[in-house]
Amino acid sequence: MEGLARVLLSLLFLKTLLTIPALRAFASEAETPAKRWEEFERAVRDERLPLEEARRQIEAFRALLPAAYPLREFDGTLVFPLKGYGLRHVGGKRGEGYRPSRYEFVGPRRRVGHPAQDIFVYDGNQDGLDDRTGEPVAVLAFAEGVVVSAFAAWAPGLSVNGNGLRGGNYLWIYHPALRLFSYSAHLDRLHVTTGERVAGGQAVATLGRSGTNAYAERSPTHLHFMLLRLEDMRPVNPYPLLQAAREIR
Ligand SMILES: [Zn+2]
Repeated sequence: MEGLARVLLSLLFLKTLLTIPALRAFASEAETPAKRWEEFERAVRDERLPLEEARRQIEAFRALLPAAYPLREFDGTLVFPLKGYGLRHVGGKRGEGYRPSRYEFVGPRRRVGHPAQDIFVYDGNQDGLDDRTGEPVAVLAFAEGVVVSAFAAWAPGLSVNGNGLRGGNYLWIYHPALRLFSYSAHLDRLHVTTGERVAGGQAVATLGRSGTNAYAERSPTHLHFMLLRLEDMRPVNPYPLLQAAREIR
């Protein structure tokens, strides 16, 4: 009982300390860079950040992330991001589904083009399960990295600022050895949380049909897979990298 009282007292003391602005700033400094990137991603997604501020933050993360997660400590081996699938399941001929147009991570051009590859699975009855196994399809980490944003709160009809969330449930992973972010969308369940380090090929989620369009009946079940450069958050075509990736049966 005495121990509990002491804990409560020290919590109260901490709460008082945090009302001092300088110490509050220190507390947010203690957040991991991954968690800070997730906050940045949400602010961009929900259009809460002025464009100039968003661009400034992209530059700040360009220095912050490699300092926090040094590339020499991470392996760059590529793994195809769906278990039991491979290059022939990528939509279009030879990756022609990639249409970057003038896509930008921040600002109004977020919604242009299709700067990604769609990877389709066998799910004729659209129940989200693999027709061959009756099981969900495992989404695998593209390479070793750190989860920098994890969103699993999508529901049909959910919208932010009048826009439906197209990605549904999604994961962002930063891959230090590649200096790339991977974005995997239309997921069902996530197995990892922000800040977690993942191995290449680790099962990080199950594929689902979440997201405004992916949820619709006409949409075949697929993974939306995008890669953005740390340098400037511009997209790169995942196709050549998917060609080089190891497929897991
Ligand atoms: Zn897509």
